[in-house]
Amino acid sequence: MNYLNKKTVSDIDVTNKKVLVRCDFNVPFDENGNITDTKRIDESLKTIKYLVDNKAKVILCSHLGRPKGKFNKKFSLEFVAKELSKSLNMDVKFARDVIGESAETTISQLKNGEICLLENLRFHKEEEENDPKFSEKLASFADVYVNDAFGTCHRAHASIAGVTECLPAVCGFLIQKEMSAMSEILDNPKRPFISILGGAKVSDKIGVINSLLEKVDKLIIGGGMAYTFINSLGYSIGTSLCESDKLDLARDIVAKAKEKNVKLFLPVDNKVGREYDPNTESQIVDADKIPDGWMGLDIGTKTAELFSEAIKDAGTVVWNGPMGVSEWDNFANGTIAVAKAIADSGAVSIIGGGDSAAAIEKLGFADKMTHISTGGGASLQFLEGKELPGILHLNDK
Ligand code: AMP
Repeated sequence: MNYLNKKTVSDIDVTNKKVLVRCDFNVPFDENGNITDTKRIDESLKTIKYLVDNKAKVILCSHLGRPKGKFNKKFSLEFVAKELSKSLNMDVKFARDVIGESAETTISQLKNGEICLLENLRFHKEEEENDPKFSEKLASFADVYVNDAFGTCHRAHASIAGVTECLPAVCGFLIQKEMSAMSEILDNPKRPFISILGGAKVSDKIGVINSLLEKVDKLIIGGGMAYTFINSLGYSIGTSLCESDKLDLARDIVAKAKEKNVKLFLPVDNKVGREYDPNTESQIVDADKIPDGWMGLDIGTKTAELFSEAIKDAGTVVWNGPMGVSEWDNFANGTIAVAKAIADSGAVSIIGGGDSAAAIEKLGFADKMTHISTGGGASLQFLEGKELPGILHLNDK
């Protein structure tokens, strides 16, 4: 599939049209309902403003969290409507349901250049089931469909996949930006090309590891997933995360890296804790000396130096997943060191995944990165070379 051949919102006429826009407003928020990172909202504004300026009737929809098919006030999108109103400096009407009376009335009262946001799509289990009736109902509100929810494009859900069968379907500017940034880098990477993978699970990243081994010069593995590798090499890892059914696979990856001449970097030391707790007692130990009853929660200082040195001369960096439990200050140093090394390297860089992106933003390095993706899972799937259901069925130019 040629992603860059998909029609975008500027290839069609939207004036006087009702346009259903699937956004990804799945933003992080704290216990008081305050949004802690507005990146996904900020990145959606370009498409929305374009539609408003071109006098479309704009019907926004999104999911938030995992309400499991039922109404749950905690996951209501009302606060997103308020945030959008602030960011756009105009009223964003909020429908209190997705396909019910409130949605119908709100949409029927929309004038050209006005915006409404529907309630959380995942309050209906039919959304994640890609139920055709649910897609049809959503589609019945509009004349055209625009997908700009890059972060959800790897999910074949009703508002992402099914709806494209009912309406002319194009992508928004965010998807266009994500696709072109990543395609460009992958097609012709500046070398050395280095990939850094972290996060909790090997199983989430096997596909991308295999595909990146065909392309990169160096592969750096940290985070919880590194312990399965360390264990597969015969070292004990205490109570660290381990996927025991993936040990053979980890050994295969180590062998494949050697065969492909890819330099593989694993942690040589780790910051281990007694318990999975932000304030647990901790110490730094060599990777082959993790004591029984302790768990690796971050890479150690020697590893941070080793990884930083490896990143220094990078031409291209693809990074997905933190080096440790970076949400906790005591175990964030490894992730911070990697973020700094990428920023200092001046390499072309693609950052995917909420935790890596959060570390970059927190350190104020965002403007030193080439592209910070709004989709962790979606960007991995793209890098893996897999088709994204949310883009596959959009109309070609
Ligand atoms: P992922 O979504 O797979 O990129 O994983 C991100 C999550 O991995 C974050 O919530 C981290 O807290 C977690 N993580 C990273 N390193 C570790 C580790 N050593 N032990 C447990 N969890 C970890």
